[in-house]
Amino acid sequence: MKKPGILLVISGPSGAGKGTLAKALISRHSNIELSISATTRDVRPGEKAGETYYYINKEEFLEKVTQGLFLEYATVYDNYYGTPRDKVLEALDKEVDVILEIDIQGAMQVKKNYPDAVFVFVVPPSLEILKERIICRDREPLEEIEKRLQEVKKELSYIGEYDYVVVNDEIQDAVDQMECIIKAEKCKSTRRFISFEEKGE
Ligand code: 5GP
Repeated sequence: MKKPGILLVISGPSGAGKGTLAKALISRHSNIELSISATTRDVRPGEKAGETYYYINKEEFLEKVTQGLFLEYATVYDNYYGTPRDKVLEALDKEVDVILEIDIQGAMQVKKNYPDAVFVFVVPPSLEILKERIICRDREPLEEIEKRLQEVKKELSYIGEYDYVVVNDEIQDAVDQMECIIKAEKCKSTRRFISFEEKGE
């Protein structure tokens, strides 16, 4: 009786804490993997090729698009980002749950191509806290921060497209909520029914 893993798509405004949340989940669960995307953006200090992203140039990226190697891809803040299709599907097939931490455009593509995925929108407790977080982490140049903040309202209008919303105030609470979502999804009648049918019960 084989049940594919759950494909968990996490989106939300920059600074909502999606990355921290995803890392906390994978550190606590050996059966959950974080998909590593390909990107054309520059490596940031502290990031590692093959761990944070696969850093490739635009030509290589577009070649992979032509070859259909991405489950989804999008242009985010003037750079390309894409999810390697085969790695994700292989992990799901091995009954491993996979997290995609991707933007909304990419999530909407996954919704079309892999409708069984579970969509979670992560929000900060307030816009003020979001601004503080983006400025405090001091990761992007000032004009980049402005760009990201302007995107937030547009991004929030997509909440209704997602199955769940997690408010990331305290990280531990957010992790608990994510764990509840995963547990609930595993108990869904559709998921369980498939496995009974396969067993011939
Ligand atoms: P950053 O450059 O800060 O790491 O990521 C910028 C944005 O790109 C984030 O919203 C992140 O979720 C999104 N992103 C990262 N990887 C992918 C991907 O493979 N596909 C899509 N569509 N978005 C991605």
